[in-house]
Amino acid sequence: MTMQLARERARKLKADVIRFCERDMPADLLDKSRRHQVLHKDDYVRWMQLLHGQGWAVAHWPSELGGLGWSPLERFAFEDQLARLGCPWIIPFGVKYVGPVIYTYGSAAQKQRFLPRIATTEDFWAQGYSEPGAGSDLASLRTAAVRDGDHYVVNGQKVWTTYAQWADWMFCLVRTDREARPQSGISFLLVDMRSPGVTVKPIPTMDGYTHVNEVWLENVRVPLENLVGEEGAGWTYAKFLLKNERTAGAIVGMAWHALHRLKELAAEVGPDGKRPIDQPLLRNRIGEFELSFLALEEAAYQAVEAMMTGAENGGEASLIKIRGTELYQEIAQATVEVLGPAGIAWDVEALHSGGLPPLGPSDAGGILKDHFYNRAATIFGGASEIQRNIIAKGVLGL
Ligand SMILES: Cc1cc2nc3c(=O)[nH]c(=O)nc-3n(C[C@H](O)[C@H](O)[C@H](O)COP(=O)(O)OP(=O)(O)OC[C@H]3O[C@@H](n4cnc5c(N)ncnc54)[C@H](O)[C@@H]3O)c2cc1C
Repeated sequence: MTMQLARERARKLKADVIRFCERDMPADLLDKSRRHQVLHKDDYVRWMQLLHGQGWAVAHWPSELGGLGWSPLERFAFEDQLARLGCPWIIPFGVKYVGPVIYTYGSAAQKQRFLPRIATTEDFWAQGYSEPGAGSDLASLRTAAVRDGDHYVVNGQKVWTTYAQWADWMFCLVRTDREARPQSGISFLLVDMRSPGVTVKPIPTMDGYTHVNEVWLENVRVPLENLVGEEGAGWTYAKFLLKNERTAGAIVGMAWHALHRLKELAAEVGPDGKRPIDQPLLRNRIGEFELSFLALEEAAYQAVEAMMTGAENGGEASLIKIRGTELYQEIAQATVEVLGPAGIAWDVEALHSGGLPPLGPSDAGGILKDHFYNRAATIFGGASEIQRNIIAKGVLGL
């Protein structure tokens, strides 16, 4: 596909997404999402199934598996546009992460068993990579899988496992060889969360919600047929997956959406009869956010195009992640300040019930919730320091 055609298709896709949002998106779900309310499992399943109904949930998969042959540019533009419109995020663990690993490296039986249910979100997946002591330094993970007949017996602990409380399955990195060098002894296992010995313990986060969990694995028996690819080759599959994790357009769209809302709120007349935007310092700050956003947007789209033509320098995904997450956090901080007293009044109950915050506009509580949660955006998916190390090594040759 030529770049010209890819750009045209990306533009058309953005227009289709806007139309879908206006015409087909259930009002209650869109309202909840735009007000940054707490979404529950059934909201997310409904959302993912709506996308699947459009052919979009797995549009990046090969066409024989239901894909639409999207270029990376279309994929990026799609996530960017959804986020600009304030739609929920695409739950990535099935369709974006483990699905491609299974169709690239899995057995025929695994493809047949898992892929259709991933595409429809009939199975909800979680990502079991991180452990206490193995986050940035993932290769030092210690959860062990030992062969016993036609099973592995798994013992260990995963941590920060997003939505493990809802998951039917968890893809899991385990150590199958303690003697080999750290990366070579790792395997990629698919663990049924209903197996005896799996315990999920919630970790409350400062936004008053449970996104993340500890997952304890005690003598969990996993059939050998749930090993993806070869034993000991899990690090290769893990890295393949992480590449997909780092190239998401949503961060550009989220920054745009947050900045747009900040400008709206700043232009509203407050109880003192004044508009926050008329304060020169705030005006200047918003102007700087605008410039940073334009630079991010331009850099991000150039980077995706470079990846498509093979002209990438290897640091693109890291650059977008650093710039996007940091800008988003700065905009969120400014928005909370512009909200004044409503930026301090914090009602977790209202967020869970879909109710209204005690003060300020109807999305004030949600803005605060997102602000708290997104402190983690510069940590998950590879912390900013790690992204800077990648750029230093790969691009600057340090
Ligand atoms: C909200 C949230 C959701 C998450 N969801 C999941 C999930 O679903 N599945 C999953 O497997 N994991 C998940 N994670 C875990 C996430 O991937 C890790 O938190 C992340 O990789 C960082 O690892 P860590 O927390 O162990 O911190 P550490 O690796 O201990 O890092 C601590 C600090 O040291 C810095 N640091 C570490 N090494 C270096 C270095 N070499 N050079 C410079 N600085 C360094 C880091 O940047 C960081 O600031 C989630 C985390 C959060 C916060």
